Amino acid sequence: MQPSRRTVLAAFAAMPLIGAAPAGRNRVVLLGTKGGPTPTPLRSEPATLIDLDGRAWVVDCGNGVANQLAKARMPLDRLARIFVTHNHSDHVADVGNLIEIAWSSGLKTPVTVHGPPPIRQIVRDQLAALAYDVEARIREEGRVPLAPLVSVDERAEPGLVVRDGGTMVTSALVDHETIKPAFAYRFDTPGRSIVLSGDTRYSDALVRLAKGADLLIHEAIYGPMIERMAGENAATLADHLRRSHTLAEQAGLVAARAGVKKLVLSHLVPGAGVSDAMWIAAVRKNFAGPVVVGRDLMEV
Ligand SMILES: [Zn+2]
Ligand SMILES: [Zn+2]
Repeated sequence: MQPSRRTVLAAFAAMPLIGAAPAGRNRVVLLGTKGGPTPTPLRSEPATLIDLDGRAWVVDCGNGVANQLAKARMPLDRLARIFVTHNHSDHVADVGNLIEIAWSSGLKTPVTVHGPPPIRQIVRDQLAALAYDVEARIREEGRVPLAPLVSVDERAEPGLVVRDGGTMVTSALVDHETIKPAFAYRFDTPGRSIVLSGDTRYSDALVRLAKGADLLIHEAIYGPMIERMAGENAATLADHLRRSHTLAEQAGLVAARAGVKKLVLSHLVPGAGVSDAMWIAAVRKNFAGPVVVGRDLMEV
C-alpha cells in the first residue's frame, strides 16, 4: 500500500530538525561572525539571518552564506529579502550565488535585494556569470525562469527601506571610510527591534538608529591585537582598520548611548586569538548591560 501524503508528512514531522524550519517563531541567527574576506576554519564570512516565521531575510552575503543557512536549518526556498550594508566583498561575494543556489533548491517566489550602489550592477554581473547554469537547469530540470523573481532596490539615501508583514526596516548612513554609502539597518519586527551596524567606525547616526532597540549586533575590532596582525602590509592595514571600524569598547559606548537591551559583537577582527573574556572586558569599559560575543550559528 502506498503511504498517504498525510502519513509521509507525519513521518517528516517526526524526523530531527535537519533541513526543516522551526515553525511559528522569529529568530535571529549569526551565520558568519568574522570580518574581512580571508577564510578561517573557525568563523564564516559576515551574514545574519532574520527568520520571520519561516521567511528568510538575510543581512549581508559573505562567502559561504548558503551553506551557513543550511546549517541554520533554513530552507533556501524561503529566501525573501537580502539587505546589503555595503559592497565590500566580505558582504557581497555570495549575493548572486545565494539567489541562484536558492532557486536551484526550489525557490519560486520573489527575492528583493536592498542595498547601496552599485548593488544593482553587482547582482546583475554575478547572476550573468551563472546564466549558463540557470539556462541548463531550466532546460534539464524544468525550473521557472530566475530573472523575473529577482528585483533590486538600490538606494543611496537612508530612511525607510521597506514595510513588509508587520516589520518595518529603516537605515542610517554609517562611516566606513571610503566605502560610501554604507548602511546600518534597523528591523522593527512584531516581536522585537533588531539593529545591525554594518561596517563602520564609531557612529552617532548608528546611536540614533539603535535608540532603545532590543538587540544591537555591532561589528568590533580588538585594539591590542590590531597592531600585531601579521603581513607585509600590516601598518597600512592597521591604520585602515582603526579609521573604518569600531573598537569593542566603542561598540559598548554605542550600546550605552543608544540604551539597547542587549549587545552582540559580530564581524570580529581578528576572528581568532581573542577570548570572549577579552572582548567583554573591552565592552565593559562603557556598557554594563548584557553582552554576547557572537559565534557562527548562534541564535541571538
Ligand atoms: Zn566587512
Ligand atoms: Zn567593509
